[in-house]
Parts: sequence; C-alpha cells; structure tokens
Amino acid sequence: MSISPSKVSTPRTQISGFVRARAPGRINLIGEHVDYQGGVVMPAAINRYVKAAAQANGRSEVRLSSSQSHGDLVVPLEHKTPFSGDKSWANYAFGVVAKYRDAGHPVTGFDVKFESNLPLGAGLSSSAALETATALVVEGMLGLELPQAERALLCQRAEHEWAGVPCGIMDQLAVNAGVAGHALKIDCSTLEIAPAPLPANLSAVVVDSKVKHALADGEYAKRRADCEAAAAFFDVEFLRDVTAGELDSAQIQLGERVYRRARHVISEMARVGEFAAALEAGDTAAAGLLMAASHSSLRDDYEVSCQELDTLVEIAGGLGAIGARMMGGGFGGSTVNLVETSAASRFAEDIVARYREETGAEVEALAVNLVGGASIENVE
Ligand code: ADP
Ligand code: MG
Repeated sequence: MSISPSKVSTPRTQISGFVRARAPGRINLIGEHVDYQGGVVMPAAINRYVKAAAQANGRSEVRLSSSQSHGDLVVPLEHKTPFSGDKSWANYAFGVVAKYRDAGHPVTGFDVKFESNLPLGAGLSSSAALETATALVVEGMLGLELPQAERALLCQRAEHEWAGVPCGIMDQLAVNAGVAGHALKIDCSTLEIAPAPLPANLSAVVVDSKVKHALADGEYAKRRADCEAAAAFFDVEFLRDVTAGELDSAQIQLGERVYRRARHVISEMARVGEFAAALEAGDTAAAGLLMAASHSSLRDDYEVSCQELDTLVEIAGGLGAIGARMMGGGFGGSTVNLVETSAASRFAEDIVARYREETGAEVEALAVNLVGGASIENVE
C-alpha cells in the first residue's frame, strides 16, 4: 500500500496551533496477563517519555515523523487503512488521529514530530506512550480534554484496529493516569484507579533483555484464547469471577493446558491484592516473594517466559533484589526489579555485568522513578 501526499493543498482552516505533549512509559509491579480477564494490575508511569511536537499545517493531511523510525509519512486525514512495512509504526499515531476523526471530532491537518527516550518493544509500553502523546496533541489542537479513561479506550481501539495488537487496557490507563511516587492499582473491569505509594526506601529497576522471540505475538493470542475458553466453560465473561477452588474442581474437563493458563490468571489476581497489602504494611519481604511467585507462575503455568528472562530473575535474586519478575507479554522484553533505593544504581550496574559474565550477552538496566501521567506541555 502506498500513501501519497494529497496533491492539492487545502485552504488553511486554522490560523495557528502548536502543541507539545509527552507521555511516559510504564512498568508493571505485579498483575501480569490479567488485564484482559478483568483483573487488577499494578503499573506505574516512569520517567522515560515519548514527546510529540505538533503544528497545524492548514492542509487536509497529517505529516508524521519520528526520531526512532525511518519512514516519514504524509497521510490524508480521511485515510482508512493500516500501514505496513517500515511505515507500520504510524498505526500507533495516525490510528489514534483516525479514532478522533471517526468519533466525530473536527480534526484538521497537522505536522507532528516524535522524540523518545523510551526503548521500543522492551515491554515499557512505548506503543501506548506514542498513542497517548498523539491523542494529547490532537486534543490540544482541538481545545478538547477527554476524560483519561475515554482517551485510554480510544488509544486501545487504535492499537487493536490499526496496529492489529489485541492489547488490554492497562498500558493506556497507566500512561495517562500515573502519579509521582505511586503505583496505580487499576481494576481493569471497572477502570477504577487507586494510587498506591511506593515506600521511599524502594526503587524499581528495569532490565531490558534486548530479546524478542518471534513467537511472542501468536502466543499472546493463544493465551487469550485459552483464557476465553476457560471463562466460557464457567459461563462468565472474565476469569476474575472464578475461584481457585472452582478451577481445581474443573481440572479434568478443562484439560491440562487450559487449566494451567487459568490457574496463572486466577493465582496472579490473588497475588495482586496480597502485594498491595504487603506494600501498604511495609512488608517488603512479602512483596518480594509475591513477585517471585508471579514470575514462577508466568514461567511454569502460563509459559510466556524465556531463558533470558529466567536468568535475569535468578541473577537479580543473587544480587539482593527484594523482588524480580518478567514483565509484559513475555518471550523477551524486560524484567522489573524492586530494590532498596540506596542500592538501585549499584544493582543496575551489577546485573549488567553479571549477565555479561554468565551469558556473554548485553542487557540494559534502568533505575527509574515513578512519575505523573501524560500531559500537554504547552499550546500556542
Ligand atoms: P512496547 O509497547 O512494549 O514498547 P510494542 O511492540 O507494543 O512494544 O510497541 C513498539 C512499537 O511502537 C514499535 O515497534 C513502533 O512501531 C512503535 N513506537 C513506539 N514508540 C515509537 C516512537 N517514538 N517512534 C516510532 N515508533 C514508535
Ligand atoms: Mg506495547
């Protein structure tokens, strides 16, 4: 498919309009692969951002470029089909523009440039950050402010329908609703958000394994399908409405694979509640054990880990992390590690060195701060 610039420049419909916005990435402390089954998750926005600078162009087209991608695009506003190849990144950006357009908002043409210090495809949700930064510049130019949940849902739909990724709602909500120094307890069935402070003596360190195994996307869809099969067996919309006891009594009928997939989801939902209580009580040891249990469950029951992630989690334990687990869809991406704040930068250096010693491969570790959600920086 080719996208050509519209040949005729259209009359300037807007005199001026310059908007800058930024949207953070996110980590997830616990609650993995439960968002699409209506569970509670505990992400937090982090101090790595996608930034967007947009300028009205008075034409009926959107011109997009990104410092993280080749493939600049000129797209007619009415364009309706996803991009492929080296332009596919624009599905996350123009897809959002199209969603505002389709919702009836009078979007006019603009040029937008994205810059980012958020690693792409590392499980830190650069996709939701790119979507949300786009959403905010569109809103800024329209003089519009959608409620956060509505914006998140619109971005999620763009990711589903344009990027073809059937993601849950966690990423878009976390990116929009972050609170400095806090994780967010997000109930993915009601979209209710309750900020939960991370004790000051604790910090998060992300370790990007730098691998992404090819089976990731197909396996994600299969996990969702297994969960849906289990939910259908119990005649519920989501597995959040099934207890561990009910699940165990249906083990034979469900079959071993579906049973274990559902066991991950149901046990992970329980761990989130326990983790939040442990943090609140300042019981860091208990919080760390719950992260370890989350990783084991993702590795053994959900089977979405990989050797690299397992090795990183094992090394983290040896380096004194309070808790460590794989994060995100799996088959690569990052681990999230909870460490004493005073040891965070040392831990980040040590895990890179130790991983290199053990495997000969390079990973990247980032000590991150928990920050506020996406925002418009200025409108002129
Ligand atoms: P994650 O969200 O964990 O980073 P995804 O695979 O969901 O991983 O999304 C990564 C994709 O998002 C990239 O491959 C690219 O298409 C797009 N993307 C994210 N940030 C940018 C950016 N700043 N510029 C261009 N594309 C980006
Ligand atoms: Mg993503």
